Amino acid sequence: MKFNQSFIKRISKNYCPKKVKAELEGKHKRKTSEVMVKGQYFEYLLFKTKNREGQIPVMPLLKNGKKSTDQIRIEAQAKKFFEVCDKHQIKFFGTDRTFHTELFGYETFGTWDGYGLYKRSPVVIDIKLPGNVSNTFGDFCWGDISSMDTLQADKYMLAGRKMDGVPYDFLYMVFDYKKNPEYVLHHIKYDENTALRVQERLEDANAKIIAHEAEGWPEIGIPDECKDCCFSDTCSSFVTKKGNKNKWKQAEQKKIVKEEDSIQAQKEIERLLSGIFDEENFTF
Ligand code: SF4
Repeated sequence: MKFNQSFIKRISKNYCPKKVKAELEGKHKRKTSEVMVKGQYFEYLLFKTKNREGQIPVMPLLKNGKKSTDQIRIEAQAKKFFEVCDKHQIKFFGTDRTFHTELFGYETFGTWDGYGLYKRSPVVIDIKLPGNVSNTFGDFCWGDISSMDTLQADKYMLAGRKMDGVPYDFLYMVFDYKKNPEYVLHHIKYDENTALRVQERLEDANAKIIAHEAEGWPEIGIPDECKDCCFSDTCSSFVTKKGNKNKWKQAEQKKIVKEEDSIQAQKEIERLLSGIFDEENFTF
């Protein structure tokens, strides 16, 4: 079993095992959201990094053919990026580096946006583009890093130290595209518990997979999971935020009603015809 940090994070929250299995097998591709395209576009402007499909990310133009306000702000932030690097003594040695390595007996993989030096100390670098760097709630609360799941930083530092023998720390470079765009840097240092935290997350993910294998990867209806699931039309556990559990059942019922209606109609026709035949004494 191979683990990347997105997968480990994914199964540390509410999820549907059946959908996760489909994703692992490549049967259910997670859609690239508008927010993700913006992040990809930003990285392309910085380092000419292409998206996962090997294409140049494109931001859609407005109906009048002009760039959106977000795109203009993102391009302005990209221009500012290297000034920020100079100001804070950030030096890139490489970008878009994929890695595969074993950690605690588990095969792990991922992609570093970059690696290099921050104030003369080696760092793995990740570049983020949220809507607002000051956000203090939700999964991406860059304004309150202590509340965030920093598995990515832990795992990338550990993998880097193992692969390169370099004492990497980690640097998040976070730029936003709100009305008055800002940026923030978060320097995460390797500590005595970093390896333990990674080990626990890997073991936890592995234990869940073993349990799901044993129980046959059940369906667990969760509105956010179901809304874009490839099984939503046929799954009996499908559920929406409004509590509609019956999307597929309703469709099935409509089908049954239609079939029953057509059987009834057929019977009625037969009844009428037999009446006509009786009245006119048709014989065959
Ligand atoms: S429709 Fe919902 S419950 Fe069914 S497999 Fe998909 S995510 Fe799971």
